[in-house]
Amino acid sequence: MALHSSDRHSRINLSREPGSHHEVEVPDTLDLACRAELGLHHFTETIDERPEYGCEMAFAGDLATYCPPSMGFHIAGLGCCQPKALEALAFLRLMSGSRENLGREAAMMEMMVSCLGEDGLFWVPGSPATPWRRIPEPFVYLHGQGRMLRAMIAWYQYTGDEAWKGRIDRMVDGLDKLAVHKDCYAYFPVRGPYDEDYLGSCYTRGGKKDLSEPLSEKAGEEGSLFNQQGHMPGALANWYALSGSEQALRLSGELVRFLTKPKFWADFGMEYPEVFGAQHAHWRGHFHGHVNTLRAILEYAIATNDSRLKLFVREGYQWARQLLLARIGYFEGQGCACARMIGLAVKLSEAGVGDYWEDVDLYIRNHGIEMQYTPEDLDFMRGLSKGKPPISSAPDYHISFLTDDRVIERSIGAFAMRPNKFCWLICCSTHGNMGLFYAWDGALRHADGVVRVNLLLNRASPWMDVDSYLPFEGKVVLRNKTAREAFVRIPLWVDKGAVRQRVGSDAVPPKWFGSHLRFSGLRPADVVTIEFPMVERTEEWKTAAEVPETDRKIKFRGNTVIELSQPIMPGSPLYMHRPEKYRSPCAPVKRLTRYVAPRVLKW
Ligand SMILES: [Zn+2]
Repeated sequence: MALHSSDRHSRINLSREPGSHHEVEVPDTLDLACRAELGLHHFTETIDERPEYGCEMAFAGDLATYCPPSMGFHIAGLGCCQPKALEALAFLRLMSGSRENLGREAAMMEMMVSCLGEDGLFWVPGSPATPWRRIPEPFVYLHGQGRMLRAMIAWYQYTGDEAWKGRIDRMVDGLDKLAVHKDCYAYFPVRGPYDEDYLGSCYTRGGKKDLSEPLSEKAGEEGSLFNQQGHMPGALANWYALSGSEQALRLSGELVRFLTKPKFWADFGMEYPEVFGAQHAHWRGHFHGHVNTLRAILEYAIATNDSRLKLFVREGYQWARQLLLARIGYFEGQGCACARMIGLAVKLSEAGVGDYWEDVDLYIRNHGIEMQYTPEDLDFMRGLSKGKPPISSAPDYHISFLTDDRVIERSIGAFAMRPNKFCWLICCSTHGNMGLFYAWDGALRHADGVVRVNLLLNRASPWMDVDSYLPFEGKVVLRNKTAREAFVRIPLWVDKGAVRQRVGSDAVPPKWFGSHLRFSGLRPADVVTIEFPMVERTEEWKTAAEVPETDRKIKFRGNTVIELSQPIMPGSPLYMHRPEKYRSPCAPVKRLTRYVAPRVLKW
């Protein structure tokens, strides 16, 4: 009998220090740590340990085309998106403290580490026995290199294992050698030996590369140069910030100088009169590619304190946040889009380039969670495949099919690819779950005895726990542990004049610093209660990119959508359960074991 990896013991994925758990009764409102537990369940349940699949994760789950629902593979899986899952797993473990499927996760990580070549790059073991990877020889998927770099940076911090540092430095060197260096900038070759969508940026040991400089942003996989390579300099800049690697910083700067060339921006053929849009990060095209590139430019700008680049990114973010139904974080169809914006908004805010906490609050309370499959969706999910034909009738069944075993249950925690929630992709599930992390991370920060509460969400931390009654009640309780001072950001919709606060049972006068309430002289075990009237309002929003153009009424309680006049798309279950869920004016309570994460990760 084969020994399953879950029976084995491995240190590759163990936290450098344990967090702590405690039993509490808390308001049963949005809890990102609980959402992270779902995500962790999904990812570790889609790792296939059967030897012929080598711990590859499912790329997609189709709940609606065949009965029973199935999961399958794709060329962009192991080489491109699985490294994103690897990064997400470190974040989700940190948030939730879950120990589910640790052994299986370790086996998957060992497989991925074994794919690192002598040149430091991540080589997908393509072979005739793995037809779903399409290339029958080992290959480097360009897009996945930057994702693997980010994943290794996360696990280096999470485990404290110096082995990761060596792997990261070797990959930086490998990327440096792969890049085409010009006078002051660099880019990665855009075409390898396999000229097919998604395979174009894959390099093999002996295959030729097209070294010519890309002339347009609209080249590369999915019609976007940025999608293919725009995110790379961000991981490099982060590694410089963590390790001081001058090689990583130099390469990051060379790539940023290439990516910020005016020819790649405002390339849609018209512009406001008297505005040179390429200087202001105006763009049109691949949403993920542009948002990821903006974040990478920001990470370089932070590492080098380049104020002009910081403002460039700020303008690019503000441009992006006008798309579709940005008010609730619905920028485009995929379940990863909102999360990418959450990451950018948190980074901009943390770096003091802007204050986008109100945006993050709106995103994470709405589209940033709504695309995730949760146990509430089970009936809907079961209904999707009723009466559909078997998967064996699918044309590419023998290539991409992985399994139809327990697919619905294993899909809980994934993020949908479209608002109809018919299917999920590892692309959307990874970024969707990382969006939970970005918001969770940014919700509460600590330095030198001072806590800043940026988002009024349930959140445990070593310094202070937050119990949020929103959006049922206008009430937040801070349970102090070690802080002597706290700044609490109050959302825009709250009437500041009606806010009441007390420490223990003693009312205290308000001390406002802009949108923050200040509490000083705090002692351990102090309980701070902040209360204000809830506000319900209905807003009308026109969404120009939808066909047909839609006028929609959106009812909010605070920043939470509680009712939509029309679904996001016909048949979409998004937000449909909310009128019932938020009927009560009192927050339900629940008992749970809260996990306190032991450290902060730089991402
Ligand atoms: Zn996606």
